[in-house]
Amino acid sequence: MRRIEAVSSKMAERGLKNLVVSNIYNVRYLSGFSGSTAMMLIAGEKATLVTDFRYKEQADGEVFRGVEVRIDTREALKAICEMVGKLKGKTGLEAGTLSYSAYDKLRAAAEDAVPIESGVLSSGLIGDLRKTKDENEIETLRKAARIADDVFSDIVKEIRAGMTEVRIAARIDYMLRLKSSEVPAFKTIVASGEHASLPHASPSMRVVRDGDLITMDFGAIWDGYCSDMTRTVVAGKASDKVKEIYGIVLEAQRAAIDGIKAGKACSDIDALARDHIEAKGYGENFGHGLGHGLGLEVHEGPRLSKKSEEILAPGMVTTVEPGIYIPGWGGVRIEDDVVVRDGGCDVLTAAAKELMEVGG
Ligand code: ZN
Ligand code: ZN
Repeated sequence: MRRIEAVSSKMAERGLKNLVVSNIYNVRYLSGFSGSTAMMLIAGEKATLVTDFRYKEQADGEVFRGVEVRIDTREALKAICEMVGKLKGKTGLEAGTLSYSAYDKLRAAAEDAVPIESGVLSSGLIGDLRKTKDENEIETLRKAARIADDVFSDIVKEIRAGMTEVRIAARIDYMLRLKSSEVPAFKTIVASGEHASLPHASPSMRVVRDGDLITMDFGAIWDGYCSDMTRTVVAGKASDKVKEIYGIVLEAQRAAIDGIKAGKACSDIDALARDHIEAKGYGENFGHGLGHGLGLEVHEGPRLSKKSEEILAPGMVTTVEPGIYIPGWGGVRIEDDVVVRDGGCDVLTAAAKELMEVGG
């Protein structure tokens, strides 16, 4: 119930009496329910989860004490609309994920009872709480990271010139599943040779050639929590240019990780990596932010970027993933997951980071 209390006090700060929770990750965070269809209503300190008959047994087993479960034969939204119609005071809705048609229905239901004050959109209210993880969540994330580490140490034994990117990606996904990841945390990226200059390349039928860099970005899900790791390896022997670019990215990544601790500005951490890459002459080849928060979703707060105004707090979990992408040549990205602590950080991903020549 600590999470419900925390939400209630955040709601009070924003002048909200009630909150309709439609983001399924927020539903899971507040209730423990891991099914794919449910909504919640927080009215003051009272929390109700609405789902349907398919999930009755699951909800009874999973939902935290103190959260009331209501099984409805109709879609959850209809039941929530009915409940909202009886509420008093300002009702918040989740702007980020609520569909326009659901918004319309909730507005209509609320207006009958509390004409003017309802329908306040409350972006980020629960997302702000989710940024800081408790020790149980951190241990769960550590397990998800460990699965990704294991997959990496297995896949590098298989990779060799002649394999397609699709085959490598399929093998990664297969290994993730066998190691009990529920599903891959996101669509696995495998990009080789000049294709690796696309930071978010989809695996293609491109055949890995001798001397190619291969970037692999993938993650596991353990008990709902995601890991997200990138390693770049070389097929066969690394050229001097490969060694140079890889070295710069690794130094940038280490500088950022060394600088992470509670109280630091996210933009300053981004700068630790970015300034290094810029000083080496590749500033224009690092066009994305340094990292993102990680938890029930693979992208959540905080953001490590130039524009971020957030300050790191103990328990925040973030990726650190600088890269250099050179069109026509290829790219290197190295990504780890870290937990912010007082005075430093814990790195959850443990896979080797020295440049690896594979398939020899
Ligand atoms: Zn990634
Ligand atoms: Zn990432």
